[in-house]
Amino acid sequence: MIEMQEVYKKYPNGVSAINGIDVRINQGEFVYVVGPSGAGKSTFIKMMYREEIPTSGTITINGANIAKLKMSKVPLFRRNLGVVFQDFKLLPTLTVYENVAFALEVIEAQPKVIKKRVMEVMDLVGLKHKIKMLPSELSGGEQQRISIARSIVNSPRLVIADEPTGNLDPDTSWEIMKIFEEINNRGTTVVMATHNKEIVNTLKHRVIAIEGGRIARDEQRGEYGYEN
Ligand code: ADP
Ligand code: ADP
Repeated sequence: MIEMQEVYKKYPNGVSAINGIDVRINQGEFVYVVGPSGAGKSTFIKMMYREEIPTSGTITINGANIAKLKMSKVPLFRRNLGVVFQDFKLLPTLTVYENVAFALEVIEAQPKVIKKRVMEVMDLVGLKHKIKMLPSELSGGEQQRISIARSIVNSPRLVIADEPTGNLDPDTSWEIMKIFEEINNRGTTVVMATHNKEIVNTLKHRVIAIEGGRIARDEQRGEYGYEN
């Protein structure tokens, strides 16, 4: 479902963040992306959701080379994937319900369909009772649950997460991981950049380690492999 061939990324300031990556990730996999700070993890995953474009190489997602995607096709492409950030990125003036419903309203789904689907995903993240609240009224862990609900409301086949537990305490991080496990168990591919050693070494999945913009290690049920 995701294939990178000979991918390089050099930023306009001259920094070579990705220096030749070839990788294939199949539908239904759960992949951790690990590596030291500045190794290129964020750049690697930003290219998967077309936040950054490679300088050279091809990135095929569900059959389309997204490196060549026209600007006008980007919103349609993004509808088929969910993205979860370390800092949640919820819209502060909208209620929880509105934040989650937003992606369905954009595609003009019927109000009844929207309501049913929003309630389904809110149930999955365990926060059905908080739909009328504003993000600022919720804890960090709750806000991250909402952002996960938002990421899956369109039923994407792929969810990409950039350090989703980076701002959360250990107990909350485990709760968040349970939700990602559940999403993956339902067949959705999950690609997650993380610095959480305990989680990677306990909830075993494929580990891709990036160092200096290259894949240094790629192991099924791998280890975190760094001190922290
Ligand atoms: P990681 O996520 O592993 O910390 P990044 O992908 O964020 O690594 O960064 C890889 C390298 O690219 C670093 O040297 C970083 O400073 C640089 N970099 C990241 N984003 C940009 C950008 N927008 N412009 C210029 N350089 C960047
Ligand atoms: P994170 O640690 O959450 O991946 P970073 O601190 O690497 O975030 O980057 C924060 C933002 O700054 C990102 O949008 C990234 O692209 C940008 N950035 C990172 N390094 C550089 C850099 N050297 N020059 C310009 N922008 C950068």
